Amino acid sequence: MTTAFYSDERCFWHGGGNYAFTLPVGGAVQPLAGGLPENPETKRRLRNLIEVTGLIDHLSQRKAAPATWQDMARVHPETYLTAFKAMSDAGGGELGLRTPFGKGGFEIAALSAGLASAALADVLAGRARNAYALSRPPGHHCLPDWPNGFCLLNNIGIAIRAAQAAGLVRRVAVVDWDVHHGNGTEAVFWNDPDVLTISLHQDRNYPQDTGGIEARGGSAGLGANINLPLPPGTGHTGYLQVMDRVVLPALHRFAPEVIIVACGFDASAVDPLGRMLATADTFRQMTRTVMAAADSLCAGRLVLVHEGGYSEVYVPFCGHAVLEELSGSTVRAVDPMAVSLAGKQPDARFDAFLSTWITDLATAHGL
Ligand code: ZN
Repeated sequence: MTTAFYSDERCFWHGGGNYAFTLPVGGAVQPLAGGLPENPETKRRLRNLIEVTGLIDHLSQRKAAPATWQDMARVHPETYLTAFKAMSDAGGGELGLRTPFGKGGFEIAALSAGLASAALADVLAGRARNAYALSRPPGHHCLPDWPNGFCLLNNIGIAIRAAQAAGLVRRVAVVDWDVHHGNGTEAVFWNDPDVLTISLHQDRNYPQDTGGIEARGGSAGLGANINLPLPPGTGHTGYLQVMDRVVLPALHRFAPEVIIVACGFDASAVDPLGRMLATADTFRQMTRTVMAAADSLCAGRLVLVHEGGYSEVYVPFCGHAVLEELSGSTVRAVDPMAVSLAGKQPDARFDAFLSTWITDLATAHGL
């Protein structure tokens, strides 16, 4: 059985807007050549690295059809889709917060959602053991009717609803380790007891007003949303602890048929949009953890969908480590930052503080 890898050059052609980092250009804000931190290089360089090392030859490279209008409409209201398509056809623009797109941006966003959907469908149908979708634009901040945080369609939401509609699956768990709260995915499945959404994120980073532990889902979905806000400075040992002490027990309690990871790399120690200290090895070991959970709970069925990660230099090495682990390949990309990051691990006092914090999270969620 293989590890399938879904990508499409056209996803790297998404762009638009006149930003200097996260600030709209104008007034005293000088234009910046790189534009938004969510730019093609953060993803394209991951694809380039797996080609350079040869890891790509150990993966099953696949394309996918764009998500259909019907697929998108299971998650997003027709009014939003119609407005998005019309603005995209007319040359592009912006409908939410920091979500600019150019002409044809609608079709690229549909393709990004299509990569995630194909990855999930192929794993559920037994056409791959596990899968990685290099989706761009990302999806986890996109609410049903409001795009934000670089996200224009909720890729994972669309993929899950399509798989459920096809009769491929009912119970799904989403583990979101992007450094930002997965507020869009939380919103899509807020009332749904069949989709467990777990988000590990830096406390009150983005969005600043969501992601608290008290947000546990609504009506029948109560308890099926688990927010795990973590303090700035959480690093390798902290992430592994929260996976072992909270995420794994939550997955076992829920017993999903498949696990999906919203795989952002912006918890890395050098990310410009996070204040965490994860390394490539952290992402490797978190992958190992969810693989073990998938093996014991759902015959290994595991899908990773790319989300954020804004260090053009380091994201590729984090992604390479994840793909090495997923595929079992022995091809390695030596982490060029491992030595310098090793000295940035938290000290004993911080570890003790974090251990108490994580115990409190587990207790709050009855784990
Ligand atoms: Zn993020």
